[in-house]
Amino acid sequence: MNKPILMTACLVVAAPALAQTGGDPSRDPARTEVWKPVPAVVATPRDAAPSDAVVLFDGKDLSAWEGEQGGAAPWAVADGAFTVVPGSKGIRTRRRFCDIQLHVEWRTPTETKGFDGQQRGNSGIFLQELYELQVLDSYDNPTYSNGQAASIYKQSIPLVNASRAPGEWQAYDIVWKAPRFSEGGGLVSPARITVLHNGVLVQDDTVLSGKTEYIGAPSYSPHGCAPIYLQDHDSRVSYRNIWVREL
Ligand code: MG
Repeated sequence: MNKPILMTACLVVAAPALAQTGGDPSRDPARTEVWKPVPAVVATPRDAAPSDAVVLFDGKDLSAWEGEQGGAAPWAVADGAFTVVPGSKGIRTRRRFCDIQLHVEWRTPTETKGFDGQQRGNSGIFLQELYELQVLDSYDNPTYSNGQAASIYKQSIPLVNASRAPGEWQAYDIVWKAPRFSEGGGLVSPARITVLHNGVLVQDDTVLSGKTEYIGAPSYSPHGCAPIYLQDHDSRVSYRNIWVREL
């Protein structure tokens, strides 16, 4: 079916420029070529962050993070990863971010006996400290759909459940567009998020209705750029290989 199109394309490529334009300069293909700006070169090594990324955890220490009440991040670093210390409260990046691309790898505990629903492998990635992308063991672990892994907690159900088994490393690749507020504090544009879970699209340019609420409806309050926050939900969830690109 595509053969005539392919043949036509070959003829066009082979034909002299004059034949392409038919003598009409407005049909010169060069007129629609754009050469500037030239995109910056970003190196993408196979097992490392892109060259223009800010590495937030390289496997060694939590120097890019602090406890939610300030001071050193109290979570445990070992074997190239770090793990929630239950009861120690969440941690957040020392740097603040607005629009970002974020890569995070995470793993829920293999011990699942006695832990069901929201009690199994619960943590969370809060964009700008306020908007939670849920981290949960959702492998054969029913819970409310808008609270399972890769949900925007209590706002948006993931398109599919791409969860791996407990104990396996999983990845989120996130594109986050921060909400915009006017000088007077009114909402100009809501936050938007796209998420790939283990390479599978689970949130497709989802529009958020406001900050994450456990009870009641979400709403917006004006704020600026803010840290990325990881939740302590009393589960020994681990993280590794975290990097961010500011957009
Ligand atoms: Mg959570």
